[in-house]
Amino acid sequence: MIRRIDLRGSGPATDYRAAVPRADFDIEAAVPAVHEICEAVRHRGVEAIVEFNERFDGVRTDDIRVPVDALQQALADLDPAIRAALEESIARLRATCARELETDAITDLGPGARVTHRKVPMNRVGLYVPGGLAPLVSSVVMNTVPAQTAGVRSIALASPPQKEFGGLPHPSILAACALLGVEEVYAVGGAQAIAMFAYGVGPCRRVDLVTGPGNIWVVTAKRLLKGQVGIDSEAGPTEIGILADDTADAAHVAADLISQAEHDPLAAAVLVTPSESLADDVVAELDKQVAVTRHVERVRTALSGKQSAIVLVDDLEQGLAVIDAYAAEHLEIQTADAAAWAARVTNAGAIFVGSHAPVSLGDYCAGSNHVLPTAGCACHSSGLSVRAFTKSIHVIEYDREGLAAVADHVVTLAEAEDLPGHGAAVRVRFAD
Ligand code: NAD
Repeated sequence: MIRRIDLRGSGPATDYRAAVPRADFDIEAAVPAVHEICEAVRHRGVEAIVEFNERFDGVRTDDIRVPVDALQQALADLDPAIRAALEESIARLRATCARELETDAITDLGPGARVTHRKVPMNRVGLYVPGGLAPLVSSVVMNTVPAQTAGVRSIALASPPQKEFGGLPHPSILAACALLGVEEVYAVGGAQAIAMFAYGVGPCRRVDLVTGPGNIWVVTAKRLLKGQVGIDSEAGPTEIGILADDTADAAHVAADLISQAEHDPLAAAVLVTPSESLADDVVAELDKQVAVTRHVERVRTALSGKQSAIVLVDDLEQGLAVIDAYAAEHLEIQTADAAAWAARVTNAGAIFVGSHAPVSLGDYCAGSNHVLPTAGCACHSSGLSVRAFTKSIHVIEYDREGLAAVADHVVTLAEAEDLPGHGAAVRVRFAD
């Protein structure tokens, strides 16, 4: 079901990033269709959104804004066990987010010369919560808590309309919004939701930043509209990478691979190990566990896709090089001395250390964020955090004495760039 890639004996010059292929998640191919959706939303507004809701989600939604009453009703109807779990998830994420808040950095550069790096929350953000294959209520928490902690004043949230709920987003998503005090909610999914946020159409004012995970339509729209609107990372179909040795429990490893494969047929599950016996045991466990898993077809497709593999390596040292080059969204380290190996990883969306930190803990209740960069973007992007909802502004405060101390250098550099007007703007202040 899952293929093997044997990298044993390949030297350090091997391109490990290319050796472990990714899914056919072809953003370029999706661009024309997504461009058309975004332009339609931009020019025809709500009318276009209503058409796309009907075409892609199979339900007509004349009013795309969810009434506040419906949010409150969903919370009142919420299963108490789900409410308790959400409250725990929120509390843990709030605790870590509170520690992420950054203070202004003030630097005095001499008398009358100060530069402050001021941290400012975004004014208005649009949060995307997936609802195609599964209603990701947890993504309401993961998007909203850091935004609120950062101090964002205006928060809008969108999630696909659900046919079986009369065109509203899934009730658990509405309930989580009510629990967190998010009142501006839209029944809009996919690329049209991102375009609605970016351009501001109908009842939804333009936002400054869009965050949240999604499928190819969502990710492509984020890439196309970047610049018109800020985005977090490209958080597409889930990936799990596991670096394991023969101290790992094959049943745990298999369960964790399945747990992420169940997100999407395009999800990637990659085990990197020097232990052939662990590889054999994991395959046997997969056979057993996949047969009884709920989303068996989706899991089988993901595990047998070219994006999933068991990668055999000479030793953990080579395994670390492979897994670091792969830059997994989620990385588990299930080895002896796991913390020491984890400390050497430079590319991953999030690292789960040891045998009792499965990725599903991080999906819901670890206190970490589950909106994470995929497709290798973890080598340059970070998961969602308070910082994603904050920008920095340099504030420059110089008085006459401060400017005088550096004036000659400014004039010299201005002349070196043949921009004498720059120098004159300093000299004029000392003309007397
Ligand atoms: P989704 O909400 O992202 O997408 C559903 C929407 O896709 C629909 O509302 C519809 O508008 C649009 N759509 C469907 N078919 C279309 C078509 N043919 N043309 C244009 N638009 C179309 O929900 P999903 O599909 O379940 O995807 C969620 C994804 O998010 C999964 O791949 C999951 O793995 C991923 N995810 C990623 C992270 C992360 O942090 N990287 C976290 C959670 C989930």
